[in-house]
Amino acid sequence: MGKYFPPSASGAPRYSGIKTFMRLPYVKTTEDIDFAVIGVPFDTACNFKVGARLGPSSIREASALMKNYNINLEVNIFDYLSGVDYGDVPVIPGDILQTYDNIVSELTPLLDNGVMPFVMGGDHSITLGELRAVAKKYGPVALMHFDSHSDTSVSVYGQKYNHGTPFRRAMEEGLLQPGHCIQVGIRGTQYGPEDLQGARDLGIKVVTANELHKMGVEKAGEIMRETLDGRPVFLTFDIDFCDPSCAPGTGTIEPGGFTSYEALSLLRELKDENIVAMDLVEVLPTIDPSGQTAFLASVLMNEVMAIKALQKKNGK
Ligand code: MN
Ligand code: MN
Repeated sequence: MGKYFPPSASGAPRYSGIKTFMRLPYVKTTEDIDFAVIGVPFDTACNFKVGARLGPSSIREASALMKNYNINLEVNIFDYLSGVDYGDVPVIPGDILQTYDNIVSELTPLLDNGVMPFVMGGDHSITLGELRAVAKKYGPVALMHFDSHSDTSVSVYGQKYNHGTPFRRAMEEGLLQPGHCIQVGIRGTQYGPEDLQGARDLGIKVVTANELHKMGVEKAGEIMRETLDGRPVFLTFDIDFCDPSCAPGTGTIEPGGFTSYEALSLLRELKDENIVAMDLVEVLPTIDPSGQTAFLASVLMNEVMAIKALQKKNGK
């Protein structure tokens, strides 16, 4: 057992108390921890419905239901990892450039201490700030991107920084390794064939939702691992990768997506990958009446924590 872990549920019910991620201690430390959960409640760079600024608080609330032991990976996260809820990055609504700087300054001390950040968005624009911080530590990284959208537009409304552009900007800024980036689940109507081609021209492998449904989880896992090639990986998960039937609480829903089961199975295909940071973005609790989207988000993050624990258990 490490220094920081959730309290036992035998002392008080899990729905009681002040909500942090998985009821972890809220401690702003970079010492004695393997991972830190951080909110980035920024949503003024999105094209359609706003509300992801409330994503982190909704994920924290939903996450109280989760437990520590993963029956598929056969590991208790906190037997091997120590983790905290690090609070939120101080974002500036409407000022994306300052917000990016704040993301970098909050994540840098964690990364410098070898701590893995688990970031809760926020809209997908925030990932560029995270990648700037991660690349300072690791150099350009491989990218594992779950989404129904490529997010590689040249600009949106003439703006460079938007939730439709982060991966093009990241490539331009040299934060990613072309040839070792993969997006899975891309679907929906587009403006033209250039949308997909634009991502491919940047050196990103695109697996459309249709292709992914046809090939299945195991084959997709092979392609993902082949592309990531054992390099340090940034894992970014836009909740709209999942079908609206599983994840209705997001701003740009796309039918024809993936079940929560498929999403979790795909994450487990990454159990031997060197994931150095993760984010989970685009949860909009105001249109998530049952809380199912926020809970799915917390379960997906929990799955990656279990993968990191298993790796530590196996001496990796
Ligand atoms: Mn996205
Ligand atoms: Mn999306």
